[in-house]
Amino acid sequence: MQIKTSGIIIKRMNFGEADRILTVLTHDHGKVKAIARGSRKILAKLGGSLEPFCLVDFIFHEGKSFYVVTSAVVINHFEKIHTDIDKIAKAFYIGELLDKSLEDHQNHPEVYELFKKYLENLEGADDPILIPVFSAKILESLGFKPEVFECLHCRQKLSLAQNFWDDIEGGVICQSCHDKFGHGRKIENDLIKILRLIFSPTFAVGSKINISEKYKNQTAEILENYVEVILERELKSKKFLDQISSSSK
Ligand SMILES: [Zn+2]
Repeated sequence: MQIKTSGIIIKRMNFGEADRILTVLTHDHGKVKAIARGSRKILAKLGGSLEPFCLVDFIFHEGKSFYVVTSAVVINHFEKIHTDIDKIAKAFYIGELLDKSLEDHQNHPEVYELFKKYLENLEGADDPILIPVFSAKILESLGFKPEVFECLHCRQKLSLAQNFWDDIEGGVICQSCHDKFGHGRKIENDLIKILRLIFSPTFAVGSKINISEKYKNQTAEILENYVEVILERELKSKKFLDQISSSSK
């Protein structure tokens, strides 16, 4: 079967003498592994363009264990990312996050769109807030969202009094739950407002992310921590599930 889709390469591995295995986040088929035969020779012709973080129009042939690349037309090479060591490192960070958190062939077009927007943003500005915001938005698309609209524990609407942030559970806790359970650290209401904005359905990731300088570091820190906790928990549980399934064979 022939598959036509656009995709962004997130990883590339040499395979055998002349082949390459690409991990591609596609628009229509989720994350796939595709073999590009003789691609190092063909690559020279293509100008070295089948490399990570290129947006490509692919035609794949469905093979036994891999898709096989039959045609690849590079649409956007993201030149400014590839010529800047800082930017390429940042692209690799999100690529790694996607590789870890997505199962093969699980289709998430919204994650593809987020990744594309992330690269477009990275190509333009190089705002340090991009990584934490996009990582958190990617996890949100996969069903993990911090609670920023009501109290994590009692589910009451948050008042404008002092509230608290729980790093472990990922969300805001009200004063009385904080007194009861002792979880969380103080969080300013303006910071809660920023988090609400980021996780509101109308938040447009493509547009410039406007967060006042005063709260940038705190926002980044909270989101980074959130992503780390989720990834660690999920990867552990995935490992656990893998262990169970392999020991029951
Ligand atoms: Zn509460």
